[in-house]
Amino acid sequence: MSDSDDMVFIDDERQPVEEPDEARPWLVLVADDDDGVHEVTRFALGTMSILGRPLALLHARSGAEALVVLRQQPDIAVILLDVVMESDDAGLQLVDAIRSDQSLANTRIILRTGQPGHAPETETISRYDINDYKTKAELSESRLFASLTMAIRSYDQLQRLDAHRRGLEMIVTASNQLNAKPGVRAFAEGLITQIAALVGVSADGLVCACAEKPGQTTDGCEYQVIAAAGQFAPLIHHRLSEIDDKRIAFALREALTSRASHVDRLSATLFFAKADDEGFAAYIASAQPIPPIDQKLLEVFCSNIALCAKNVDLVAELRRDAFVDRQLGMPNRNALIVELNRRAQVAPYGDGVLAIVDVDQFATINDILGQHYGDLVLKATAARLRERFVHPALVARLAGDAFAIVGQRAELNPESIGNCFAGPFALMGIQQPLSVSAGVVYLNGGFRPGAEYLADAYLALKRAKASGLAQIVTYTADLASEVRSRARLLDDLRRAFEGERLFLVYQPQIDLGSNRVVGVEALLRWRLADGTMIPPATFIPIAEQSGLIIDLGRWLLREAMQALHRLRAAAAPELRMAVNVSAMELRRPDFADGVLRTLSEAGIPANALEIEITESLAVGTGETSIQSLATLRAGGTTVAIDDFGTGYSSLAYLERLPADRLKIDRSLVDALQHGDRAARIPRTIIALGRELGLRVVAEGVEHQSVATAASLLGCHEAQGYHFARPMPEAELVAWLATRQPVAG
Ligand code: C2E
Ligand code: CA
Ligand code: CA
Repeated sequence: MSDSDDMVFIDDERQPVEEPDEARPWLVLVADDDDGVHEVTRFALGTMSILGRPLALLHARSGAEALVVLRQQPDIAVILLDVVMESDDAGLQLVDAIRSDQSLANTRIILRTGQPGHAPETETISRYDINDYKTKAELSESRLFASLTMAIRSYDQLQRLDAHRRGLEMIVTASNQLNAKPGVRAFAEGLITQIAALVGVSADGLVCACAEKPGQTTDGCEYQVIAAAGQFAPLIHHRLSEIDDKRIAFALREALTSRASHVDRLSATLFFAKADDEGFAAYIASAQPIPPIDQKLLEVFCSNIALCAKNVDLVAELRRDAFVDRQLGMPNRNALIVELNRRAQVAPYGDGVLAIVDVDQFATINDILGQHYGDLVLKATAARLRERFVHPALVARLAGDAFAIVGQRAELNPESIGNCFAGPFALMGIQQPLSVSAGVVYLNGGFRPGAEYLADAYLALKRAKASGLAQIVTYTADLASEVRSRARLLDDLRRAFEGERLFLVYQPQIDLGSNRVVGVEALLRWRLADGTMIPPATFIPIAEQSGLIIDLGRWLLREAMQALHRLRAAAAPELRMAVNVSAMELRRPDFADGVLRTLSEAGIPANALEIEITESLAVGTGETSIQSLATLRAGGTTVAIDDFGTGYSSLAYLERLPADRLKIDRSLVDALQHGDRAARIPRTIIALGRELGLRVVAEGVEHQSVATAASLLGCHEAQGYHFARPMPEAELVAWLATRQPVAG
């Protein structure tokens, strides 16, 4: 069946369906002890129809008999009632009985009396809610018809009102029950049940809503079944487009896009507006036709429930989301802050403690063992913390692998946190040891907002993380001011970089055998506006931690290579330049390509550049970094291992590392001038370097004696104040002019 066929079919279905009670007659009871009256009435009304429906006459000869008929047929619309029957006031007694019976309240009564003398008092008429009163003489055919029409119309209205009233009561009950359901999904499920109950059908239905928030997808929403009951139960969580019954899918989609409800003969598709641009649609199937009165009811229900839906969203859902971490089902950051504020109010100088605990190397665990395993680690960590730090302590999840604990100093302290993770965790049958780092802050600073204490704890945690694994750091004022000044420094550094107040100086490197200049090392300088120099040992680590080093490094290499180009052209055609590179730069997969590109842009051959990496960096180098170095070396660039002798590199590691030079650290070089014993270590290291086939450079040579000793022990090259200080480019050009030609 083609789509257009579908549409036609649906349109057919959507023709307004006339109410089925067309055929249902109005019941009219004639209560009179006079057979003639029955006869006349039947003759007068027998073939009439009122408001599109025929009349059906019922007959009673006495008040008692009438009562029996009324009990059997509660939906009698009108009674044509004689006042005098078995007794003088049998009619009025019957009225009494009818009006005291709640279920007959809507039945209209037309009194007929034989003579005007028997007419009831006005008072009686209003008391008994008698709708009309005629003498028998007045009951001509046309008059009777007019009276009956009025009575029936008002009966019909009363019945409808009643149904509405009942419906409204049901809606109120339904709404209340729905409001008690936590979450949109439960609400939607309740909705199906309630609609089905309202219409009096079995709960066969489904509810669709936007799976994503509007605006996230280009073409509106991806609708999804969020609740389903009865025959539709298997459709839960399916996309609207996956619903096989095209009519249902169409009806739902139309309700969602037109934001309107539509009730059919055998189904109701109801739209519930939530926020301005959201809503959901419910489809309920009905085995029997849905009468118009119920259709009206559903309309009222829809608009009424929209309010409930809003409440569900705003109150229940948001409230829960606001204070509970969904994934782990525990308090979240907001809940923690509320708790911190509460405690601060109760005991502003108490011995409360806040700790932030962060799983060490969680990102690596997640990467290597997979996200599922990572989730297990988080769950296990949360469980361990909650087991160890029980009420009145509070454990909350802050974000990712960071948890917070608020407690009392006696139970919550660096020691107890450490102990908490002493034992391994059983994860997927494996005993997995886990360590955490923690930042601890004592809540004794008076009344401060919880968020501020939390910031302090984060600061301590950051420091703990920076100092290695399983570290616990307690917040102090010193820590804070140190961090603050670092933050200021980074800010200044950024501005200096942007304002081009950073520059390079160059320190010559001398070949000890020939005493000729073989290269220069580029060193970064930062001069403040007032002339103060900030040492690189201070600002380089900040640039590294903040990531600024990446941009800085790129800029610096370009500067260095342009300077090298000028130097080679003006003073020393064979000059080589060494540039220091940080671990973070080297780890970037595009590092080697970037360097090679910079070289070719500056017109520098690859073998005129040397990359200096520190020994500790070299040790911690992963595959990407080694790959970068290999690529560069393959291109002709050389690699020097800086500060050698201060780190922990193993021989095996050194062998693996693609390097050309070893730069013996200044602290070791110094020892060369202090006699044989002290020189043992540098001597061994120099020998080691030579053994590995590397060129060995002595750093920080300040005296001729050291240069001589280094040379005697087999150092190939040297660098230090004895030969030259780091100099700006112009100064270097002048300095080079005083030297022997540069050796290649
Ligand atoms: P480094 O790479 O070991 O640089 C050598 C340091 O020793 C330089 O300090 C230099 O000025 C100093 N020096 C040279 N000869 C002597 C001497 O005879 N006696 C003494 N006492 N010191 C000497 P500087 O320029 O302060 O650099 C310090 C560190 O900062 C460098 O150590 C390097 O690790 C880092 N650094 C400097 N510039 C850069 C750069 O452009 N990039 C990166 N990533 N790090 C850099
Ligand atoms: Ca260096
Ligand atoms: Ca060094």
